[in-house]
Formats: sequence, structure tokens, C-alpha cells
Amino acid sequence: MNFSEEINKIPIIKIISSFADESKTEVFMVGGVVRDLILKRKRSDLDFLVIGNSLEFAENVAKQLGIKKVSKFKNFGTAHFRYENFDIEFVGARKESYNRNSRKPIVEDGTFEDDIKRRDFTINAMAISLNKNNFGELIDLFNGYQDLQSKLIRTPLDPFQTFDDDPLRIMRAFRFASQLEFNVDDSIMNAARQMKERLRIVSQERITDEFLKILSSPKPSVGLKLLYDSEVMQIIFPEIHNLAGVDQRQDYHHKDVFLHTLIVVDNISKTTENVWLRFAALVHDIAKPQTKKFVEGIGWTFHGHEELGARMMKNIFHRMKLPMNKLEYVEKLVRLHLRPIALAKEEVTDSAIRRLIVQAGEDLQDLITLCRADITSKNPQKVEMYLANYDAVMKKVLEVQEKDKLREFQSPVRGDEIMRICNLKPSKKVGEIKKAIEDAILDGVIENNYEAAMSYLLKIKDKFLKSEDSK
Ligand code: ATP
Ligand code: MG
Repeated sequence: MNFSEEINKIPIIKIISSFADESKTEVFMVGGVVRDLILKRKRSDLDFLVIGNSLEFAENVAKQLGIKKVSKFKNFGTAHFRYENFDIEFVGARKESYNRNSRKPIVEDGTFEDDIKRRDFTINAMAISLNKNNFGELIDLFNGYQDLQSKLIRTPLDPFQTFDDDPLRIMRAFRFASQLEFNVDDSIMNAARQMKERLRIVSQERITDEFLKILSSPKPSVGLKLLYDSEVMQIIFPEIHNLAGVDQRQDYHHKDVFLHTLIVVDNISKTTENVWLRFAALVHDIAKPQTKKFVEGIGWTFHGHEELGARMMKNIFHRMKLPMNKLEYVEKLVRLHLRPIALAKEEVTDSAIRRLIVQAGEDLQDLITLCRADITSKNPQKVEMYLANYDAVMKKVLEVQEKDKLREFQSPVRGDEIMRICNLKPSKKVGEIKKAIEDAILDGVIENNYEAAMSYLLKIKDKFLKSEDSK
């Protein structure tokens, strides 16, 4: 298979290709960039595999492009620079072996095949040649092309060995499955289930990074389900793992909170890219297992789960090394997620609405987005009714905001000016004139600015002063 037409569209390819031949070096496009090219996914980082001295090669290509800044990592044999909107990386072919206590490999120079073999998945292990004799040719040692067509994540070598060498690859398998909406091979699920404890040698930052990529994918339930089914969730996010399961008692059962949560996360992901709002959706019911209680005659209750859930966030943020400046936002959404529905009733007071406006602050819209995503009923009539309830709450919010704005509203012409122009002492009359100006603005008789208010004052003042005289 040949991709010369596709790669010729990438601006830097011609230069790399002719320099490869000039310097008699084999060079390939490799890894994720080949995968994305075949899938026609846009990407801005381009990775090149150099059989030989990658640092020197990168330096020379950069020179031809007039680029001065090349970052070189001698230990890894990688060099990186930016060109137009692309992140360009050159890496020398390497062979890796592993020590069991670390996911950091022992690296030595290797052949093309050594380098391809160390890659995590077949869909990431393809290369396209850039040398003239086979320019554009796909080199696919592990049937990655076929796996892309059948939407399958598979490891080139034995998955037990692959995950034993670098357990982060377990997370990467589920992340790619979620991003691309692919399946993972059964052998990956088996190996992941058995090797999950190995994730403990991986730094929390890397695990969290992959977890957030899953949450950022178009349909996060794909990855979340794989994490749960492989029992990896138990290791990386036990509170979410514990949401699964249903208790049955005297005909009363409650919805499986984990399955409900997956629907809420997928729902919200259709309307927002904000990963912290998605995270809030993931954890909104996190304290349901701890607060679950069976009440005779009523059924299952989860009293206070929103408050306890909010309080659990700090620990989780610390443990998962999540950015602390997002803690308050997530806590707030969890704490308030039941509030809007409680305010949908007819007889709700302005002050109850005002309290929500103040507590939710600038995140009120996100809170309502969460509430809407939280509707997982399968009955379309109920869904419509619940959505209408939130519309009603937001209408009340607008009404109260409008009223509050009016309360703060003041005439552009102030009391002391009215006194000066009308020659009045501080008195009730001053207030009456001021109110008349404000009413004229609110009724749309005059515009809301100083000049209009002043000329209106001059027009009405005699009428007010006359009524003063007659008193
Ligand atoms: P993304 O679009 O997320 O950047 P990518 O495929 O480019 O996807 P990277 O993490 O940037 O992923 O890695 C580039 C390539 O390096 C991968 O396609 C894969 O071939 C290889 N690779 C990266 N990490 C690993 C790993 N932990 N084990 C084996 N191979 C890896
Ligand atoms: Mg990449």
C-alpha cells in the first residue's frame, strides 16, 4: 500500500525525504501519525524514525528550514522542533529491555524492526518510508492496517509481556479504545485483569493523564467500562468502582449507580468539552454507596449524598494529583446538583432562587448542564417534563436577576443635582422627582443616560414644584 499522495500534502515531507537520500539515511514516518493519517484524523505532531543519528539528522533538517531552536535529548536519542503549526520529532531506532521495578526501559541502539517491536499496539506500530526507492510505502509488520479496519486494539507481542514491561500501556489501551471508539482484544482484557497490580509502579501523574484523556474522549463510557470490566478501576479509582451493584429488597431496587453515572457522563460529553464538568458528572453520586439506606414504606434513600460527595473530593484530588484550582468548582457542582430540581416547584420564593444564584455564582449554567445530563429516564415524556422543570427554574432565575437589577438601578441624575437645580432642601420631594426620572427610563419614555435624564428633569420640575407651592 502506498501513501505518497497523502504524505506529499504535509509541507515538511519533501525536505526530509530529499535529505534522507542525500545523507543515505533510512527515515520513516512512524507511530500515531501513520495511524491518524489512515484514519484521516487531524493532528499536529509528526514523529519520524531515523535509522542512524537522529540528532544530527534533525539538526540538518532544521538548518534547511531556517529553524534555530532544536531541543535535543541525547539520552533518548530524540530531537524536537516546531515548524509552522507542527511539532516535529525525530527519534533514533532503539531497542528496549526492562527492569521489573520500573517502567523506564534500558535503551540501546537498534534496528528498524527492534524499534517497531517495542511499540505498544499494532495500530501504533506502522511506518511509512520516506526514502526515494520506496517513498510512501506502508510498512506494517504486525497487521496494524487490518486492526484499524476492524477497530481493534491489539499488542504486537504477548500482552502479558507488553504490560509487564510497561503497565501504563494498560491505561493507554483503554484510552485509545475510548478516543477511537475501538474494541480491545480479549487477550488485552485478560492480561490487564491479571497485571492490574503492576499499575502501582506507574506514577500517579501518568495514570491521571490517561484517565483524563478517557474522560475527554467523545464517549467516555467506552474507556470507563473497560476500566471497570478489567478491574483496573478498583486500583485507580476505587470510589467509582464501588458505585456498581444493585440491592434488592421487597420489590424495591435502586438503579445501578455506576451504569447511571456512565449515561450521565456520556450525556454531558455531548454538550461540553470541559473535562472538569465531565469529571463532576462522573463523581456527582459518588457518596451514594455510603449514604444508602432502606426506609420502610419509602424504599432506598441516599440522604446527604451530595454533601458527603462534595467533602470526598479533597482527598480524591490529592490522591489523584488533580489540579487543586479545580477542586472548588467540582465540589460546588456535586454539592448543588440536587438543588435546581428542588426549586422547580411553583411556590418557590425569590430568596430560595437568590440563594442558588449566589451559591452557584458564575457556574450556574454548568450546574444546570449537569442537572440536564442527570436525567436518565427511558420514558421520553418524563424526560421532557424534567427538562421543562429546569427551563422553569432558569426562567425564575432570570426574573429574580431582572428584579435585583432594577433594585440596584439609580437615576443618572443624582439627588444633590436635583436639589441644586430645583432649589430644594433634602426632602421627600427630591425622592419623588428622582423616582419620576427612573420610571421614565424604565417605561422607555427616555433613554438611560445623563443628558436625557437632565432634560427630562428640566421639563418636569415645574410641575413638581407647583404642587409644592399649592401644599
Ligand atoms: P497521541 O495522539 O495521543 O499523541 P500517539 O500514538 O502519538 O497518540 P504518543 O504517546 O505520542 O502516542 O506516542 C507516540 C508513539 O510512540 C505511539 O504511537 C507508539 O508507537 C509509541 N509509544 C508511546 N508510548 C509508548 C509506550 N508506553 N509503550 C510502547 N510504545 C509507546
Ligand atoms: Mg503523540
